[in-house]
Amino acid sequence: MRKPLVAANWKMNGNAALAQDMLQTLAGHALPELDVLICPPATLLQPLAHSAHCLLGAQNLSQFSDGAYTGELSAALLSEAGVRYVLVGHSERRTLFGESDAVVLAKMEQAIAHGLIPVFCLGENLQQRQQEKTSEVLAKQLAAVYASHPEFIGKSVVAYEPVWAIGTGEAASPEQAQQAHAFIRQQLANYDAEAADSVRILYGGSVKAANAEELFRQADIDGGLVGGASLNADEFLKICQSAK
Ligand code: 13P
Repeated sequence: MRKPLVAANWKMNGNAALAQDMLQTLAGHALPELDVLICPPATLLQPLAHSAHCLLGAQNLSQFSDGAYTGELSAALLSEAGVRYVLVGHSERRTLFGESDAVVLAKMEQAIAHGLIPVFCLGENLQQRQQEKTSEVLAKQLAAVYASHPEFIGKSVVAYEPVWAIGTGEAASPEQAQQAHAFIRQQLANYDAEAADSVRILYGGSVKAANAEELFRQADIDGGLVGGASLNADEFLKICQSAK
């Protein structure tokens, strides 16, 4: 059985007040059947560290282990700050900051070498979906990491985030999402069948309280990676409660 995981990606949003509000809201509602993960901006990691009610994740890490890389944060620094998870390969990093598959792989290696659990993000853009290239794109993104490192499957969380659904208010339908998740699990099974069966695959892209339950009910959807709707503690709590 895969334990559901619901993750908040605040992106470059939120503040100390939201961190407090989120901690209080989560503390007031026991959610023993799932893991709750908060990925705040780096300056808000500390106030959220060591909470009994959520796991802590970073939104990014350096592909290098240490050295003269002004402005970067290494896996070791994040780990020392109490971080357990880290997003890797988010489409905003790939598109806006030019992260190639090679950089994504280096970040996966850094995360795992330092005991962090990477949340490996992948997904097709609108044009690729319209051209019916979704499977091809997903297979390529998965292969870039897991073909050379099948042992990473059991050490990762995977997040399917169709780019066209991120921040648009238009989530994938439960059927579309389930189809992509099943495909991802099947591809991973080519590398390691046992690990593919137990790896958690999250759906991300316009998840909200109103659509979470139906998405999370799909056989291969093991939780969500929530952007905009995670900036409101009550809404995020409702999404978490949908994952039981
Ligand atoms: P939204 O939930 O705002 O669409 O963002 C999804 C996302 O990118 C999470 O990583």
